[in-house]
Amino acid sequence: MKRPRVASAFALAIAGVVALSGCGISRPTTPAPEPVPAASPVLPAIPRPLVTVIPPVVTPTPYDSAPPTPTAVATPDVSTTDQEPTPEATPTTQPTTPAVDCAKQKCIALTFDDGPWKGTTPKLLNILKKYGVHATFFIEGQRVKDNKKLIARAAAEGHVIGNHAYNHPEFWKLSASSIQSQIKRTNTLLKKTTGKRPTLLRPPFGESNPTIRHILRDLGMAQILWSIDPLDWKDQDAKTVAARVLAGAQPGAIVLSHDIYPTTVDAYKTIIPKLQAQGYVFVTVPQLLKSVKPGVSYSQR
Ligand code: ZN
Repeated sequence: MKRPRVASAFALAIAGVVALSGCGISRPTTPAPEPVPAASPVLPAIPRPLVTVIPPVVTPTPYDSAPPTPTAVATPDVSTTDQEPTPEATPTTQPTTPAVDCAKQKCIALTFDDGPWKGTTPKLLNILKKYGVHATFFIEGQRVKDNKKLIARAAAEGHVIGNHAYNHPEFWKLSASSIQSQIKRTNTLLKKTTGKRPTLLRPPFGESNPTIRHILRDLGMAQILWSIDPLDWKDQDAKTVAARVLAGAQPGAIVLSHDIYPTTVDAYKTIIPKLQAQGYVFVTVPQLLKSVKPGVSYSQR
């Protein structure tokens, strides 16, 4: 796998950067964007730093709190109607997502970044199916080509597919046009694969700034961060990951994880039944938030 994080992590730690948030994030203390050529669709692979992590600095924005419609399966306002399902994306047995009222029920949303990976994601999908759980997957555009069937399977089984940029760049180092290119290119690939254009972005490293939000507003997309980060990329130990998610669980939470680690997949074998026993209902991000506004960041309900 292409996860050469450790070496650069220490280098960055020594360099005195400020760690910010999940997927292995570090952000320079002065995150001034460095202009890069606008027309560079293929960006160089950037090692993901492995550093100490603190929660993202996010100000949750109030979501639309209109009374829930009992029969409505929550769909973001930014949903598009330009859906052209591909054969892969139109299963004969469309998954039925039960109506959930997260204003009354103990909802929690699982999100998985950086995948999919054939070694782990199918196992996770099997676990989710076993427990009747729908999650939200934020997928890198560069992974689509080799994982079309896997992504189509996730979509067909009722999971929501979101955008995690094309090759996981550090947005704060990119020009606005390059950021937009990363998002649009991935949207195009995912739409071809699932039939739906993603309406949710999980920015790599949880980066959030006015430039990104402005771009997302123009694209009709919302930004989804998180409220629980078990640091599953840093501490690849199923018991540790499970303990952290269970300890942090609360109604309305969005949990960040990465479906590329076997330990993370193992952790959910424990997490899901335990939380279900506590009365939690697992929902997708659109179900949790009920409606989202383009250009707005959300980290929980
Ligand atoms: Zn990531």
